[in-house]
Amino acid sequence: MSERNTIAIVDQRSASASSAALPRIPDTITLPSGLLSDGLGRPLRDLRISVTDRCNFRCSYCMPKEVFDKNHQFLPQSALLSFEEILRLAQIFVAHGVHKIRLTGGEPLLRKHLERLIEMLSAVRTPDGTPLDITLTTNGSVLARKAAALKAAGLNRVTVSLDAMDDTIFRRMNDVDFPVADVLAGIDAAVAAGLGPIKVNMVVKRGTNEQEILPMARYFRDHYDGHVILRFIEYMDVGATNGWRMDEVMPSAEVQRLLDLHFPLEALDPSQSGETAERWRYRDGRGEVGFISSVTQAFCGDCSRARLSTEGQLYLCLFAQQGYDLRSLLRQPHPTGRPYTDDDIAAAVGLIWQERDDRYSQLRASQPASSSASGRRIEMSYIGG
Ligand code: SAM
Ligand code: SF4
Ligand code: SF4
Repeated sequence: MSERNTIAIVDQRSASASSAALPRIPDTITLPSGLLSDGLGRPLRDLRISVTDRCNFRCSYCMPKEVFDKNHQFLPQSALLSFEEILRLAQIFVAHGVHKIRLTGGEPLLRKHLERLIEMLSAVRTPDGTPLDITLTTNGSVLARKAAALKAAGLNRVTVSLDAMDDTIFRRMNDVDFPVADVLAGIDAAVAAGLGPIKVNMVVKRGTNEQEILPMARYFRDHYDGHVILRFIEYMDVGATNGWRMDEVMPSAEVQRLLDLHFPLEALDPSQSGETAERWRYRDGRGEVGFISSVTQAFCGDCSRARLSTEGQLYLCLFAQQGYDLRSLLRQPHPTGRPYTDDDIAAAVGLIWQERDDRYSQLRASQPASSSASGRRIEMSYIGG
């Protein structure tokens, strides 16, 4: 294994988190117009909120056991944003134009009473009075128990991660010996609860689970009558702990060619701008598949996503090296001694977004195929996928 295309296995999450910048409040406060755009003309439409940094899985590409072991210090409860704090920030982001919120983690369903947060968010309205689109990404381990309550609380849709149909391969990939059958039961419960269209995310890692591409496609074509959309995700060099190597990335184009040989495909138009997945459908009408190709095909051009970490740091890109400490504006007083108002915080967020020029994947695409930018990057389990 060459050193050039390998990222060292170290945990740099805490260092990155503690170096978050204090947001600047502009001298003149302008109220949100819902029309915010960044330095590259991209609007703010999507907010991903990580509700916990903990997880009951140890997927090697995300929270490898060697790093996230029994000595790993997860965040204390007091560091986490409370539901009230999350709601307050969500309302500010909605005033700026966000209309979709995705709850993620770590494993979001491990956050106690998450249904209560969903209920609170589902009461929020965009400036034109529309309810938010509230979704959640989960490993599915406790979804069978929770799907109905999540739906009742106001969750619209769910995305479930599953990397293999083969039980041995899946147990090895989650590295906690968790069985496929329980995740499938979670997907069934989500379908029954009406949390569709359900997306299933499969990270394809060459040498680990590429033999599962066809079994996964076959299963989701055959079982759900087009109600479950399988999406193939390129293994990404996110964070600093997964020992990422370019030769373990299976480009989406290759996955698509393989799939097309067995189940002929045709391209679909993207449903909306800012969409991460390229959409295809089976020519025989048995549903849709997606490809998320952040390594081989950058989609930064219309990236309208902001990420809020578990402890309230705002990140402008999945690969950002630094966040902005919004929690301090919620918990600490203004230098004059008064609390920060919503207008102060909204103005700070507006300024941060206006100055945004992140486009990591696009820049990486112009570098040699084996390279990954160096520097401290935040873990996926901390800011969510
Ligand atoms: N625990 C939940 C789950 O697994 O669905 C939510 C958080 S997880 C960080 C969100 C998504 O990121 C999952 O679909 C996971 O497969 C994906 N992911 C994590 N690390 C990745 C990597 N290195 N490359 C590509 N996708 C990754
Ligand atoms: Fe946990 Fe999701 Fe990361 Fe797997 S991908 S370790 S389930 S947070
Ligand atoms: Fe958005 Fe950053 Fe991903 Fe580009 S690399 S699509 S800017 S999150």
